[in-house]
Amino acid sequence: MAINKALVVDNSKTSQAILGQIFSVNDIEVDVVGDTENAFAQLNKQDIPYSLIVVSSSLLKDEPEYFALKLRTEKNYAHTPLVLLTTRSTEFDRSYYAVGYTQIFTRTEIGKFKNYVEQVLCRSTYAKNNENKVIIIEDDLSQQLVLKAILESNFCECTCYNAAEEALKHAGDAEADVIIVDFFLNGKMTGMEFISEVRNLDHPWKRIPILATTALDDPARKYEFLRAGANDYLVKPIETLDVTVRVENMIKYKRLVDTVEAQREEMHYLAMHDQLTGLYNRHYMVSQVGGRIKEAQRHRIPYSIIVLDIDHFKSVNDTWGHDKGDQVLKAIADILKTHSRTEDIVARLGGEEFILLLAHCDLMFAVKKAEELRAKIESAKPAGLALTASFGVAELSQALNNFDSLFKAADNAVYQAKHDGRNRVQTAQ
Ligand code: GH3
Ligand code: MG
Ligand code: MG
Ligand code: MG
Repeated sequence: MAINKALVVDNSKTSQAILGQIFSVNDIEVDVVGDTENAFAQLNKQDIPYSLIVVSSSLLKDEPEYFALKLRTEKNYAHTPLVLLTTRSTEFDRSYYAVGYTQIFTRTEIGKFKNYVEQVLCRSTYAKNNENKVIIIEDDLSQQLVLKAILESNFCECTCYNAAEEALKHAGDAEADVIIVDFFLNGKMTGMEFISEVRNLDHPWKRIPILATTALDDPARKYEFLRAGANDYLVKPIETLDVTVRVENMIKYKRLVDTVEAQREEMHYLAMHDQLTGLYNRHYMVSQVGGRIKEAQRHRIPYSIIVLDIDHFKSVNDTWGHDKGDQVLKAIADILKTHSRTEDIVARLGGEEFILLLAHCDLMFAVKKAEELRAKIESAKPAGLALTASFGVAELSQALNNFDSLFKAADNAVYQAKHDGRNRVQTAQ
């Protein structure tokens, strides 16, 4: 079903070709006629009304005016976008708006006209590619069916509920782009209360566009709906175009918000993680460790750290190249990750140095853990190479009572392990 079809009424062959081109690059079907008499004949032949009509001012004198006036009396064309293309803009143009034109473009503004066509006619095509999901909360079954029919013909998939409570119950599993909610509903909750509740959820629905509807045309209720967090408001009976245009705008807005949100999440991830290994980075580790140490001290929970440094890593790069070195780092990061608990923080400090922050873990257990990791790395042959690492372990205590001193002690222990022959675990003094 081609829901977007345009009609061009223009007597110039050159202009017809230019317009035809604009529509065809947007995959929009277009009929072209040379005068308004043929235009009406063409209108009468359509099962589905045109979505846009473009008229040239170069038609016979007064013809564009008569066409608009008559068109607006036709049931299917009372609100259709109607564009006039003029040769150049004059003071007289304004009178065209009075007879029913919705937009006027001069032929020198063809770029603007192109944007306009995309905006008006590509909205549904745009929506079509994105599987739009609309939730309708409406207690009146016939109203529910009307809304559903309108939206489904605009590529929306609708889920209907009679009560707000019902919809909220499904908030966790129902993906949605727009919610349409009525004021009076089955159940205890009104649409207004539903909106307030949704805006306070810790859930993506918090940001979802909401269109409120009501049978009562009362400004006070309208403002209250908007204050509660509705994005828009419609009084019943609902006109097809009123809801179509609003929902399409809301879907566009939702996509934009989704994109921004996804970018924000990605930035957040990048800020916290080391890109090569996927482990946490030093910045994140430092932002967390102070709080965790304080918590451990407050609750007298044992807390230890393991610092490790790959042995003779420089020679991996020198012998096998930097890429091989990177593979080794990733493989060792994977070993550290798989052999630690989810609540432990495993971070790459930089270069070939890593740290593990272990809550509920005393020195003895941390040494055991480090020994396990040492043996795993030795036997794993990361990236196909025989490699080892040196470990330093320290536990939070009276003497080592903050991250700086704890880290210094563990780092010195690594140095000692290197000195003693590498591939070993050294406890902090
Ligand atoms: P030691 O046993 O004493 O620790 O010797 P080492 O060679 O491991 O230590 P050194 O500090 O001399 O060398 C560390 C090397 O790690 C030098 C540097 O080029 C390399 N390196 C640091 N970051 C990266 C990285 O992201 N990728 C790769 N491939 N190499 C890195
Ligand atoms: Mg109702
Ligand atoms: Mg090093
Ligand atoms: Mg090293």
